[in-house]
Amino acid sequence: MDEKIIEGKMFINGKWKPGKNYFDVVNPFTDEVIGRIPTADDKDIENTIDAAVSAFQISKSLTAYERARLLEEVSKKIDENQKELSKLISLESGKPIRYALGEVKRAVETFKFASIEAKEIYGEVIPMDAAERGKDYFGFYIRVPKGVILAITPFNFPLNLVAHKVAPAIASGNSVILKPASVTPLISLKLIDIFENAGLPQGVLNILFGAGSEVGMKLVKDDRINMVTFTGSLAVGETIKREAGFKTVTLELGSNSAVVVEDVEDLPGVVDRLIVGAFAYSGQVCISVQRIYVNRKLFDDFLTLFVEKTKKLKLGNPLNPETDIGPMITTSETTRAMEWLEEAKSKGAKVLTGGKNEGNIIFPTVLTNVSKEMRVIKDEVFAPVVSIVPYDNFDEALKLADETKYGLQAGVYTKDVNKIFKAVDTINVGGLILNDFPTFRVDHMPYGGVKKSGMGREGLKYAVEEMTEIKLVVIKRQKR
Ligand code: NAP
Repeated sequence: MDEKIIEGKMFINGKWKPGKNYFDVVNPFTDEVIGRIPTADDKDIENTIDAAVSAFQISKSLTAYERARLLEEVSKKIDENQKELSKLISLESGKPIRYALGEVKRAVETFKFASIEAKEIYGEVIPMDAAERGKDYFGFYIRVPKGVILAITPFNFPLNLVAHKVAPAIASGNSVILKPASVTPLISLKLIDIFENAGLPQGVLNILFGAGSEVGMKLVKDDRINMVTFTGSLAVGETIKREAGFKTVTLELGSNSAVVVEDVEDLPGVVDRLIVGAFAYSGQVCISVQRIYVNRKLFDDFLTLFVEKTKKLKLGNPLNPETDIGPMITTSETTRAMEWLEEAKSKGAKVLTGGKNEGNIIFPTVLTNVSKEMRVIKDEVFAPVVSIVPYDNFDEALKLADETKYGLQAGVYTKDVNKIFKAVDTINVGGLILNDFPTFRVDHMPYGGVKKSGMGREGLKYAVEEMTEIKLVVIKRQKR
């Protein structure tokens, strides 16, 4: 066997375990096999759930100091291995190396923030005697971990989105089963390795691989699991919600993020920023800029500049530090996005640049003349395709931005404070970003969607809230 091929194992109850059947991990740029990963069978799933259930007795009795120290150590080790980790992300996901490095740096912070949150899990005293019947009662609550948390993660941020689930789960004393995306499992293996070296207690974090619809679904349905934290597509999120039964479910799903450009001082600067928002990682980001509404007064200049600058983006090998646009994650995703472009063209969309592919690389594509019924507008395009639409009336533009089944983040550029308030009132999203792109995220802010973009919030403090229960204690005074 080629020595560059990574031979993976499952990690169950603190031990690395080979499997009976394996699947290949393929570099989407070269089509080379770079890893072989075991598919969990029923026995592996059973053993993992057993391990996580018993390890909960360990994880819940770790002190805040111990949980924080473990997470701090993981953060440090990721920091020390930035180069190796970003290369691995780039190889398995096709993400251009500078964006992969950006993801690793964010994961360093995510674990660091989690280590801080581990020490900040507070309860509250309840003034019981505020009620007539509360005289002589003293009440307070504490936050306790939920139990076994199942983390199911997508391909597009294969390290930092795993971090967003594993880190707060451990910070708050839960045990974890991780099922990463089948196309990008290798970086999760590295993360488990790092955890093991950082002193992970046995069974507290386990990893299984295999098709989400098989392995993932079996785990989702199991009653011994207390919470599913899922990031991925709307279709899978809906299935998980339906099948999860009586357990907590948080869903971080997709979007077709809009930005309204009403007035700007630095037009070239805004165009540069929105080009990054639209095309970074070939638009395969849940908060990619997909729809840009531009005040007609700025429209011609904006469009000319946008197309001119888009044409200068460098396409090619993701490992080249100069590369802006690498491949789509799979050939089927390339085909799907190209079909959506064909549909848009057949309904009258004009392609100003791009609109074609070479292998899995889709050229960054700018569309105008789009309409609401096209899939590139109403659904999540998840490819390097952006639509630019002029408007005459700011209120109308806000309505257009809001006219979608999704509601993750939106952006509005304006200096007028009254317009800012109007935007806050009109656009129904989890996060509204003023004077920057909707793609903005730092890892400790509350992050998540409304409508079909999901339910629940991530961002370490907020994820800890989702992953803990309030436990009330009431004491009745016996004597005065
Ligand atoms: P996906 O196809 O929904 O897969 C996500 C995960 O779910 C994978 O681990 C997958 O396993 C698993 N899965 C698939 N079917 C399942 C089932 N029936 N039961 C349980 N698990 C199942 O999503 P993706 O293509 O990897 O990621 C892209 C999507 O994620 C986009 O819609 C994007 O917007 C969204 N996303 C959202 C956020 C956010 O924070 N809101 C962030 C990033 C991405 P397999 O890989 O084995 O199929």
